Amino acid sequence: MKKHNYSAGPCILPQEVFEKSAQAILNFNDSGLSILEISHRSKDFVAVMDEARALALELLGLQGKGFHALFLHGGASLEFLMVPYNLMKVNGKAAYLDTGTWANSAIKEAKHFGETVVVASSKAENYNHIPTGYTVPSDADYFHCTSNNTIFGTQMKEFPNLEIPMVCDMSSDIFSRSLDFSKFDLIYAGAQKNMGPAGTTLVVVKEEILGKSGRTIPNMLDYVQHIEKESMYNTPAVFPVYASLLTLQWLKNLGGIAAIEKVNEAKANLLYTEIDRNPLFKGTAVAEFRSNMNATFLLNDEALAPTFDKLWKDAGISGLPGHRSVGGYRASMYNAMPLESVQVLVNVMKELEARS
Ligand SMILES: *Cc1c(COP(=O)(O)O)cnc(C)c1O
Repeated sequence: MKKHNYSAGPCILPQEVFEKSAQAILNFNDSGLSILEISHRSKDFVAVMDEARALALELLGLQGKGFHALFLHGGASLEFLMVPYNLMKVNGKAAYLDTGTWANSAIKEAKHFGETVVVASSKAENYNHIPTGYTVPSDADYFHCTSNNTIFGTQMKEFPNLEIPMVCDMSSDIFSRSLDFSKFDLIYAGAQKNMGPAGTTLVVVKEEILGKSGRTIPNMLDYVQHIEKESMYNTPAVFPVYASLLTLQWLKNLGGIAAIEKVNEAKANLLYTEIDRNPLFKGTAVAEFRSNMNATFLLNDEALAPTFDKLWKDAGISGLPGHRSVGGYRASMYNAMPLESVQVLVNVMKELEARS
């Protein structure tokens, strides 16, 4: 039976990426060797890394603008501390927008390095919206925000114009919508939400912001080292980088971010329209900040949960339960999810209404 994977991450990837990755495990580039056993210094793998880095910049429209793309280890969580290590000056401070669990984790790590100023927080409303109207201190070393709040289902639709460097955790909506990415000075994203399997993290950084912290940074945590070594300071996550490249190629062939953005909007519209129309359900995020990637919603009557859960499971849907801090349901509709899968969920919601 066809499965519709709504998991928040690791998550759905294009079927052709699974097929090509499986083939590369058996026989990579007709070499007679598996991608899992070749040297990361081999010509064939260096070409993979180079293309993945170049394609990431190309899709974001950042080629030739002073940015580097890196594929690092440690997930987005390691970037929570690499960012302040590299960018916060000794005795400096950094500004953070608190929009949820992940933003909070980033703030906690930054506190190891200096003062953090939380410019605004939506914590009191259980992060159901993105704060607006805040001011960012102009003497902060950088401003950090989270473009999409995977757990709470909110998404930043606008970003401030700042004189100081802007850093963004785009783990769960990178490559999903058109933005002026040159507004940002550092973007990071764990691969496993919208780009590939777990095990590698994309970091896109503007070179001119680096080397100014006055800190001595261990090599593995130093962006400058990783740029100099072209993302090969140590053995990179060979397979996750390869599978990420395949996903980026898939996206480019579809027409890039502008093309997938239309699909993502259609999926989100279809589901939110049903959440709003169907009297059995309600959304948890304030409408103007709803995420096009992760839609969070509740049943008005919890007693219907066993019936609803059986209906969606029988329809081949998986990964729908919400995060424990919100409850209810969360439908993650990353790039690789087709509109038809969202229609299956909407049909199940209508079916529940018809039976009630
Ligand atoms: C999942 C997620 C993270 C954590 O990513 P890891 O790669 O597991 O460290 C951080 N930020 C956001 C927005 C996420 O969705």
